[in-house]
Amino acid sequence: MNEKVILPQAGKLTGVKGMNDLLPPDSALVEWFEAKVRQLMARFAYRNIRTPIVERTPLFVRGLGQVTDIVEKEMYCFEDRLNGDSLTLRPEATAGVVRAALEHSLLYDGGKRLYYMGPMFRHERPQKGRYRQFDQIGAEALGFPGAEVDAELILMASALWAEIGLRDVRLELNSLGQPQERLAHRQALIAHFEQHSDALDEDARRRLYSNPLRILDTKNPHMQSIVNAAPKLLDFLGEASLAHFNTLKSILETNGVAYTVNPRLVRGMDYYNLTVFEFVTDRLGSQGTVCAGGRYDYLFEQLGGKSTPAVGWALGVDRVLELAKASGLTGTEPRLDAYAIITDPTAMPLIMGVLHTLRTAGVSVQMHTSSPDGMGSMKSQFKRADTSGARYALIFGADEIKAQRVTIKPLRDAAAQQVTQPLASLASWAATLQSPL
Ligand code: ATP
Ligand code: MG
Repeated sequence: MNEKVILPQAGKLTGVKGMNDLLPPDSALVEWFEAKVRQLMARFAYRNIRTPIVERTPLFVRGLGQVTDIVEKEMYCFEDRLNGDSLTLRPEATAGVVRAALEHSLLYDGGKRLYYMGPMFRHERPQKGRYRQFDQIGAEALGFPGAEVDAELILMASALWAEIGLRDVRLELNSLGQPQERLAHRQALIAHFEQHSDALDEDARRRLYSNPLRILDTKNPHMQSIVNAAPKLLDFLGEASLAHFNTLKSILETNGVAYTVNPRLVRGMDYYNLTVFEFVTDRLGSQGTVCAGGRYDYLFEQLGGKSTPAVGWALGVDRVLELAKASGLTGTEPRLDAYAIITDPTAMPLIMGVLHTLRTAGVSVQMHTSSPDGMGSMKSQFKRADTSGARYALIFGADEIKAQRVTIKPLRDAAAQQVTQPLASLASWAATLQSPL
């Protein structure tokens, strides 16, 4: 390395602001949720895709659009020290998925349904529900033009909320139409805001000619009335766009998915057209969007491919689980079947062989370990066994080892009997355990 060496400083090191550690038992809740998502994706025939966390910066600039919050101020960009390339920690995954689909000609034999899970990075002001590293799970249906795929994705997200017992999420829908329809609306919008330029805040003035649609998304209470009076994009949509939107709405209605049309719903990336939607809740304060998505039929072309329709969504894992916790869900660690109580350290080699046989048979076992003072008293080991949550204590005492046996003591079921088993036949005891892990 030819850079200045950074000397280590004394004192405690801490993590980066806005980038959190995920610890047990919260990590158990995340693992449980991810397992539910994997099962759900399999049932809807979506396949897993994993793209790199680092991509070339131009992918996001071209994909998301120059005048977006993400590209303007939220991206972690850095120079590859070896060749000077500009690289970026992905702020979202859709652009990377499309890049990968193009690079590997993934759609050569037809459309593909894909999903991903993983960390995203945005330099935002950290607060509850808004972090600088956060996990997203996303689904993307590439190569399908029909509104039934938009509906499938929305039904899939709704099924997920039902599956995990999430309450109080509602669906908001809008259609952004096609570029030429948006252009006509944009002109009307600019004219409207020009008429009320006194009421515009600094952000809105900056966006007036670069991205006036985003002004509709303002959170500034003083601008609500001029925003409410602004021309509605829905009134500028042509027949084909309206038909697409109506098909989607009728599938949702037939399938009992409630929604409201929110004509002010726009998304933070430039790549959306036709359908956009958000699942929102009032229970997470201002960070209320748990899942968001839409159609992006022009992104493939924008990234140098041929025109390919596509639609997808991404959910924020932190927000979904925050809401799940508010609905009473908690992380539960995987169940522990047995805790091994060991009095004689010299028997350890033999005992570890026995535990290995049990684990191979699917039993989860936590082994008592030595301290500098030895193995500790039987009483203290039982205490540990109890707090571990194990269903059984496996007692490898001196008498047991001499007889080549183990005592199995139920810890949770007062009515169950303690038994002893020959070490050689422990695997058959394992088979009698109800649903070992
Ligand atoms: P918001 O309006 O809340 O900033 P967004 O429009 O930037 O959201 P998307 O880029 O569409 O959000 O991401 C989809 C989902 O990812 C969001 O609905 C949210 O649940 C989650 N998400 C986005 N940014 C963050 C963040 N900084 N921290 C945690 N979760 C996030
Ligand atoms: Mg954002």
